[in-house]
Amino acid sequence: MNNPATDYTWPACIACGRPLWESELGRQACRLCQERADRDLTALAGDEGLYRALSLTLAPGAGNGEARVSGGTRSAPLPIRLEPLSLSARGGVVTVLQTWLIDWHEQLGWHHPRWIGDLPHQLDQVVRALRINLEWAATEHPAFGEFTSELDQLVRACRRQVSGERPERRISVACFCGDTLRITVSTPGARCSGCGRQYTRADVLELPLAVRGMAA
Ligand SMILES: [Zn+2]
Ligand SMILES: [Zn+2]
Repeated sequence: MNNPATDYTWPACIACGRPLWESELGRQACRLCQERADRDLTALAGDEGLYRALSLTLAPGAGNGEARVSGGTRSAPLPIRLEPLSLSARGGVVTVLQTWLIDWHEQLGWHHPRWIGDLPHQLDQVVRALRINLEWAATEHPAFGEFTSELDQLVRACRRQVSGERPERRISVACFCGDTLRITVSTPGARCSGCGRQYTRADVLELPLAVRGMAA
């Protein structure tokens, strides 16, 4: 049996690993992570949001700088670009967020949420519902860290499609235990799979670049 007096560690945000402020004690995630999730959700929704902007990138040759092959004997281009489609179709952004909302309803003992209208309308509905319950989720939900990381991936994938940016480059940094962490410059934090140490964003960016592991 462990001794709780000696094993006590100050609680950290489950989303970014930063030690919680005293005013945040008792919460699963820090306020900054809650605010980041709120901004991500807001960025997806509405007429000007990323989700509707995806449909503009569906034409071949649109976005991402993928030039259409003109003339010649190349095989015919795909009728639509697959990545924006997989994000905007059922199974993409809307479904991932709805799956989280269903989970939240279950945790709260509420009825299964209902979806009304086409996918863009459903996106707006699910975003609104998630934002309303975000304070609860960041405070209570043990999987809030997974929620923010999935949301972050979705928003970044949408941004890449809409703006035509290349995916962020991954770099390998060395943990003190000798293991290697694969991170991007905008990572909110990372956990070393070797020793389990949780790094905040500031700490992980201070680590030395790994000599090996660049091939992965
Ligand atoms: Zn946090
Ligand atoms: Zn480590």
